[in-house]
Amino acid sequence: MSQVFNFCAGPAMLPQAVMKKAQAEFINWQGTGSSVMELSHRSKEFKAVAAKAEADLRDLMSIPDNYSVLFCHGGGRGQFSAVPLNLLPEGKSADYIISGSWSKAAAVEAERYGDINRINVVNDVDSDTYVLPSEEWGLNPDAAFVHYCPNETVDGIEMFDIPQTNGVPLVADMSSTILSHEIDVEKFALIYAGAQKNIGPSGLTIVIVRNDLLGNAQPTTPSIMNYQVLAKSDSMYNTPPTYAWYLAGLVFEWLKEAGGVKEISKVNKQKAELLYGYIDNSEFYQNHIEPKFRSLMNVPFWLTDESLNAEFLEQAEAHGLMALEGHRNVGGMRASIYNAMPLLGIETLVAFMKDFSAKHCQ
Ligand SMILES: *Cc1c(COP(=O)(O)O)cnc(C)c1O
Repeated sequence: MSQVFNFCAGPAMLPQAVMKKAQAEFINWQGTGSSVMELSHRSKEFKAVAAKAEADLRDLMSIPDNYSVLFCHGGGRGQFSAVPLNLLPEGKSADYIISGSWSKAAAVEAERYGDINRINVVNDVDSDTYVLPSEEWGLNPDAAFVHYCPNETVDGIEMFDIPQTNGVPLVADMSSTILSHEIDVEKFALIYAGAQKNIGPSGLTIVIVRNDLLGNAQPTTPSIMNYQVLAKSDSMYNTPPTYAWYLAGLVFEWLKEAGGVKEISKVNKQKAELLYGYIDNSEFYQNHIEPKFRSLMNVPFWLTDESLNAEFLEQAEAHGLMALEGHRNVGGMRASIYNAMPLLGIETLVAFMKDFSAKHCQ
């Protein structure tokens, strides 16, 4: 087998260059004789790693100074709790936009902490799946915040227009879309993302939060989830996931060298267009999401003849195309094509899909 392309939704592949750099300095980091994971998080060496990663992320996303960047534990699901604990005071309610599996899971968790108003915005009854425009969502003007998931990793639905909330703080779960294309951070009150899709290894979660939202946490909020506590301690209230933080920093450096978010977004678009374009021109494969709402990062597709699923997956693996099986709740196939997936990976996948269909159409 020559090159392997890993289409896993998360933990996902990391850039080769990053893996090689990490390997080269694994045992002896910058002449210290120690691995970076063996250093105290309070050492000046690790603090420099941490500060550089934050500075590079701020640079990549143009994060304004009135936002804190937190490096947390607990993954995306940890934030499903942390967001309402920090932002939902007693007596208020929050609007949760439901556009797929993850936004629904976020709402279910938030309901443990307060009054949550679920708003379904997906229409998959009439034709191809689409998302209703935010003007029709009927948002509550008195809500403490609006939560949504711009890219639904499981369903392959992405919302590129930022919802209009008329001043109500907007919270976004960007676990699977952060750094994939440019966004205006100022339109958001809070952005969070588990690292294992587009940033680095699992075990790290990034939170970008506007400072005026700090300090209103519910009294029972665990200190390690309290944004104000984390901001005041530079995300070192307890021992942070130091190695994951270091690797995230390497990914940020790699992305900057690749020209930043603007440049990678062009490649991401090219990758997605190639794959969706092929699917749309084939009778053999299908995707039922309206083009405007198709995810650039997670491409679910179905074989028209689903009895061929097992054979498709087996042969794909034999060609070095790994982890294409769809999410257990939706079936079919899914190609997750985050920043680290090179265009060559998509070209190889499409060539395989063509071959496979040709063999079965005779
Ligand atoms: C993967 C994912 C999560 C869950 O992340 P964990 O780190 O496993 O908790 C949440 N939201 C979205 C959009 C995701 O893609």
